[in-house]
Amino acid sequence: MNLHIPYATDILRFLHRHHYTSVVPKAALIDMDGTLYDSMKNHTAAWYRLISELGIPCTREEFYLYEGRTGTATINLLFNRHLGHEADPEEALRLYKRKTEYFAELPRVEPMAGAQEMTRILRDAGITRVLVTGSGQSSVISRLNEDYPGIFADDLRVTSHNVTHGKPHPEPFIKAMQMARVSPSQCIVVENAPLGVEAGDRAGAFTIGVTTGPIPPAALEEAGAAVVFPSMPAFAQALPTLLLSLLTVHDIPS
Ligand code: CA
Repeated sequence: MNLHIPYATDILRFLHRHHYTSVVPKAALIDMDGTLYDSMKNHTAAWYRLISELGIPCTREEFYLYEGRTGTATINLLFNRHLGHEADPEEALRLYKRKTEYFAELPRVEPMAGAQEMTRILRDAGITRVLVTGSGQSSVISRLNEDYPGIFADDLRVTSHNVTHGKPHPEPFIKAMQMARVSPSQCIVVENAPLGVEAGDRAGAFTIGVTTGPIPPAALEEAGAAVVFPSMPAFAQALPTLLLSLLTVHDIPS
């Protein structure tokens, strides 16, 4: 019946899995690094510099996989692996501060190609936008108003400063739903990394994975993405159709 509608298979699979009859998007919960900004190269470089300086063996690539964690969670993961214990909380804060300084020394990050168009489409469709990041990197957060004018209200931003648990815990997205006063089946999540996708799906939202770096699409599917797009421009182009399909495809409860 519904199957000739674009994305119907993906939408129905999501509805079955979460026991929803429909998704009626009223809010879009949007990740920042690797989604709104082409910033992951700089983040991985800054992390690699910090952790290598501590004498802890690591690879630059592994930091792509930690994307979404809070700074403290990433530091503790590496401390546990190499030293067998977590960092002292004050030391973790000091180290994360140094990481943000290394990041700020790198060339300015640019908005992700296609992301400004994506957010304008959401705005024009009357969908509330909420920023959901594990980052406390003020050098990027402070640029949102300039690069995404009129897109993110000041009181609709979840950052490392207002969550206890970072992604893959669902808390950041649940907090975003509370801020926007919407239920999980009234949300879409836009994410580029497996831990973020996992958090969005665990929060019950229709989670869209967009590959914007070296992470393969299969990793986003495995993490629970309802649908995966190969690039941000491809997602922006498909978004009006996807939104219409979400309003059209309903599941009949068994
Ligand atoms: Ca991200």
